Amino acid sequence: IVGRPNVGKSTLVNRMLGEDRVVVYDQAGTTRDSVYIPYERFGQDYTLIDTAGVRRRGKVSESIEKFSVIKTLQAIEDANVVVLVLDAREGIVEQDLHLLGFVLDAGRAVVIALNKWDGMEEEQKTNVKTELKRRLGFINYARIHMISAKHGTGVGNLYDSIEEAY
Ligand code: GDP
Ligand code: MG
Repeated sequence: IVGRPNVGKSTLVNRMLGEDRVVVYDQAGTTRDSVYIPYERFGQDYTLIDTAGVRRRGKVSESIEKFSVIKTLQAIEDANVVVLVLDAREGIVEQDLHLLGFVLDAGRAVVIALNKWDGMEEEQKTNVKTELKRRLGFINYARIHMISAKHGTGVGNLYDSIEEAY
């Protein structure tokens, strides 16, 4: 599970596990290491990886940021399927495309989760969908899911796409 800080990766991991095994941080930049969580779902074994995220901010040193990126790259290498989490409220930014580039360079299957879909205005939804098509249209084979990690909406379907991508 990769994405910029605060997009809801840890919340999604919690939701996928169905229990609060990973602490959800209100503030970005609290975890620097990736967390590897083995678990079983419908008789199948998985390892979910909740990756680190350090926000680009004055206070955070560049070395910590680099460390965090290296950990994320390692997690991508280790994964069979990568879920790229995007924040629907913030739209698609350069850092998202950068991360996607890493995933594609590593040759990993990718599923896109557009998170925080709850409580969005219709107009906002339309705008972000248009933006997705424009900026991510080139990977038309990747499944895109509008989800709410917080409320659990769309997470079951996301699992189906992960299986399919695998
Ligand atoms: P991470 O840094 O990517 O691991 O993000 P977190 O899981 O720590 O979540 C960052 C913030 O976004 C927290 O305040 C979460 O409660 C909030 N959040 C996560 N998922 C959702 C969602 O689906 N909807 C809304 N409204 N908020 C969310
Ligand atoms: Mg997190």
